[in-house]
Amino acid sequence: MNQHLVIDNLAFSKKSEALSGILLLADCPRLQELLHQPSLKAESKAQEIAFNLTGTTNSLNQHFLSLSITANLSANCQRCLSAMPLILKLHFNYLISDVEDADLEALALDNVDDYDLLQSNANMDLAALIEDELIMALPIAPTHENNCVELITQSGEKPNPFAALQGLIKPQKSE
Ligand SMILES: [Zn+2]
Repeated sequence: MNQHLVIDNLAFSKKSEALSGILLLADCPRLQELLHQPSLKAESKAQEIAFNLTGTTNSLNQHFLSLSITANLSANCQRCLSAMPLILKLHFNYLISDVEDADLEALALDNVDDYDLLQSNANMDLAALIEDELIMALPIAPTHENNCVELITQSGEKPNPFAALQGLIKPQKSE
């Protein structure tokens, strides 16, 4: 399990380290809440988040982290409310800064879009960072690209919510 993906991000970059792995959706409870709630355990396990992190230092002695994320998730279609695949491929470049927060904000003003600033941290929680980035990257209202109704008919997975009720309502016997 990837329970402790904690790294010293500055040391990681200085040593040009690399780390890749898989996070399960179960490792990301805040993200999981925003997605389709799988009814089957196997369905839940199919949703996984692959990541690759590399550390680099440039000629100006600036330290960077490069993070790639490929997430195979399942969201609720906002039109038909059934599950739909949601594949996110994200890439981030972070410049690690060991300056104070106030200076970091000043630096951010000059920031270009090539990278985000990341505070140096000897105990950076990589899983939390990945989870945060995925939450921010989630579409606000994901919908099936094709006709939803057609999809439901094809899959036949969508149970009629009234089917259960019908079994409960017995015709009244007249005496
Ligand atoms: Zn749909």
